[in-house]
Amino acid sequence: MPVEARRRSITVDIGGVLVGGAHPIVVQSMTNTDTADVTGTVNQVMALAQAGSELVRVTVNTEEAAAAVPRIADTLNMFGVKAPLVGDFHYNGHLLLRKYPACARALAKYRINPGNVNIGKKHDDNFRTMIECAIEFDKPVRIGVNWGSLDGALLTRMMDENSQLAEPLDAAQVTMNAIVASALLSAEAAVSHGLRPDQIILSAKVSNVQDLIAVYRDMAARCEYPLHLGLTEAGLGAKGIVATTAALSILLQEGIGDTIRASLTPLPGGDRTEEVSVCQQVLQSLGLRSFTPQVTACPGCGRTTSTFFQDMADQIQRYLKEQMPVWKENYTGVEEMKVAVMGCVVNGPGESKHSNIGISLPGTFEEPVAPVYVDGKLACTLRGGGIVEEFIVLLDAYVASHYGSRELCVNTRGQ
Ligand code: SF4
Repeated sequence: MPVEARRRSITVDIGGVLVGGAHPIVVQSMTNTDTADVTGTVNQVMALAQAGSELVRVTVNTEEAAAAVPRIADTLNMFGVKAPLVGDFHYNGHLLLRKYPACARALAKYRINPGNVNIGKKHDDNFRTMIECAIEFDKPVRIGVNWGSLDGALLTRMMDENSQLAEPLDAAQVTMNAIVASALLSAEAAVSHGLRPDQIILSAKVSNVQDLIAVYRDMAARCEYPLHLGLTEAGLGAKGIVATTAALSILLQEGIGDTIRASLTPLPGGDRTEEVSVCQQVLQSLGLRSFTPQVTACPGCGRTTSTFFQDMADQIQRYLKEQMPVWKENYTGVEEMKVAVMGCVVNGPGESKHSNIGISLPGTFEEPVAPVYVDGKLACTLRGGGIVEEFIVLLDAYVASHYGSRELCVNTRGQ
């Protein structure tokens, strides 16, 4: 079944990155450094941007953090890092944006959590002040509801109204309804304060996959604002990656979601850029965007008695990733290339033929040769100890001849 066309009629410009409409789905991420630590935050933003994050969010929680933001932005600018910075505000955003106009100016978007800015209470000056800052500095906002900090006054009112019904909904359903209502009512309030609709992005994050799907389907049907999609508190390791992928894939397949983030918990000492790779892989696996050539590899089985084939698949995948910063400048469309590294002749030649270039390694008891297929045809057969290096030479030649006129004469291995 093809991916359904996205139907947002509103596009939001976040520092030159277009989100919504029919624009490509944008990958974003968030730092976990202390924003007051300029060097640490700059380094992490650079790493995330280099990994492919097209927007990077930083927390702005203290006066020191707000004061650091323009210095972070200037340093990134000096290093040529293009990813716009988004400020994540809770509780005191109205104070920080007013007191630190250079911060308000340096950020490309403000994230507002309607659950902790007093909206819905008698005095909603905090929310209003943040919207007025967005208007003054001509910035978009994300109204980001999170069920962990849902607007208590709104939830109480909806629970009370529900209890008056002849057939009340269960509390969980009322909570889901309140999450969507909080986003939509906040957007309505922002527009009533003078913000343009094309300055608004919505999100409504929960940590349960089925709830997230229900909430986003509801929200997508009821508004035209671009939607920031992500499973909140996705968790550690495989659990976080799989839960995020499951939730995002279903919604993206239905055309829901204009920018995505994977809220993974990094292992101690882990790589923060993994959340960017996961988002890219989700989009590329669904055929929605291409970022880097993909390696198709079989899982291996009893026919492959050594780890040579797994090592080779890993080396080729890493080689492709390493080359991309150079290749994408020289070879148009190379990110769509498909490479196969297969473990034996059972499925190897077949899968290789369906790739742009593929190699089928010899399985146990097979003749020690590795046929290479190029554009579906047997091109040559490799043998001996230099198969990986020779295949990389063929790969480079394929890229040079198929994706651009400017031939690369040197790769990172100097071959
Ligand atoms: S291609 Fe060969 S080695 Fe790979 S899983 Fe299939 S049978 Fe096993």
